[in-house]
Amino acid sequence: MGIPTVLAIPYAAQGHVNPMMTFSQKLVENGCKVIFVNTEFNHRRVVSSMVEQQDEESVLKLVSIPDGLGPHDDRNDQAKLCEAIPKAMPEALEKLIEDIHLKGESKINLIVADLCMAWALDVGRKMGIKGAVLCPASASIFTLLHSVPMLIHDGIVDSDLGLTLTAERRIRISPSMPEMDTEDFFWLNMGEPKTGKKVLKYLLYCAEHIHLTEWWLCNTTPELEPGTLLYMPKILPIGPLLRNNDNDNNKSATTKSMGQFWEEDHSCMSWLDEQAHGSVVYVAFGSFTLFDQNQFNELALGLDLTNRTFLWVIREDNKMEYPHEFKGHKGKIVSWAPQQKVLSHPAIACFVTHCGWNSTMEGLSNGVPFLCWPYFGDQPSNKTHICDELNVGLGIDKDKNGVVSREELKNKVEQFFNDDKNMKSRSMVLKEKVLNNIAKGGTSYENLKKFVKEIEE
Ligand code: UDP
Repeated sequence: MGIPTVLAIPYAAQGHVNPMMTFSQKLVENGCKVIFVNTEFNHRRVVSSMVEQQDEESVLKLVSIPDGLGPHDDRNDQAKLCEAIPKAMPEALEKLIEDIHLKGESKINLIVADLCMAWALDVGRKMGIKGAVLCPASASIFTLLHSVPMLIHDGIVDSDLGLTLTAERRIRISPSMPEMDTEDFFWLNMGEPKTGKKVLKYLLYCAEHIHLTEWWLCNTTPELEPGTLLYMPKILPIGPLLRNNDNDNNKSATTKSMGQFWEEDHSCMSWLDEQAHGSVVYVAFGSFTLFDQNQFNELALGLDLTNRTFLWVIREDNKMEYPHEFKGHKGKIVSWAPQQKVLSHPAIACFVTHCGWNSTMEGLSNGVPFLCWPYFGDQPSNKTHICDELNVGLGIDKDKNGVVSREELKNKVEQFFNDDKNMKSRSMVLKEKVLNNIAKGGTSYENLKKFVKEIEE
């Protein structure tokens, strides 16, 4: 056999493209070739935010297929996206693979499908190609999705999907797993109930296909989710998925920053170099979170009130008028940061985060404590995990109008700095344990090696 070739297909969102890209880069480092399939819309964004374009011969090739939405449809509308994907993408993927094979460029040996694109395993089955799923969320979210049919059977979730029927707020999927708050079920935190329902319906359609493979990979580690991995031993931890930041001058396919929807602003790195160690509050809410003007004002004025230096990411699509009292003189604002690099910088003290799973894994891997401000989906349950189970974060609370006030932000930042020794030392202990997994001989390291062997065979 020539070079083993993997087709990687992430769900169409930044928090899915990034871990799939990192995983693809690991596969390339282990001798594979990867064909990375984005939706056309995201492919354009990824390519235009890359500083250096890929060459035709690259071992990590970016390609695209349509997502089934019209040119003017809103790609942030998850309900619409989840309805469009199954109608258009399986057929388009099959055609793409046929074309690749016809041209004789490569022979695809294996498909790595995002858990939220697991229908691609069925495309592979029809074409005689093996598959694997990669879950970019926590193992507990994977388990929750897998358990929805059981929860319906037990009368905890209604069969029409979405609503919880149980009067009990706290349930356990298995005795070894942490308790879950039924109000934190991710599909109940997606804005309108009908959005959550459509998303869950789509994800259950994906989950129907995961039995087509024995390889259930997940961006987690045994220390982070011991009880869940005990209950679901089929889930193989391969995390933390961290980009190789070592060698900026070597622009090979495994070190290049690829997959970002927005161009990274590296000016914040030299700014961080000028700040004292452990002094900067890093504030970033991932790729989806949107604040209204009022919340934006409270956040801006809260940062001023802390009187600390801060690095704040405000995406272009959520840019607002700054409140006129805002000084911001102790801060640096960028529209998209090289987040993994930022979190590994010694100047960073803590991370004000929406608790997306990638941000969570990146913070944990760098020993950075969290100030948790979850927004939607799985973020509330990730926050519980960070604050109550791992004990490396503080929750930021909303007032009765659902707003985080400037005083609340200031108080939590102050509380963090008053206790930073304990929180920081717990975070550093956890960092060691988490990183051991990807060192030679570690669990995730060995799981990746086993997986690559499977591809080669
Ligand atoms: N990210 C980044 N720069 C930023 C903000 C975020 O590179 O300024 C990356 C971050 O490192 C992570 C991803 O975007 O890999 C966000 O994923 P996450 O699961 O945290 O949140 P989501 O965007 O899915 O809500």
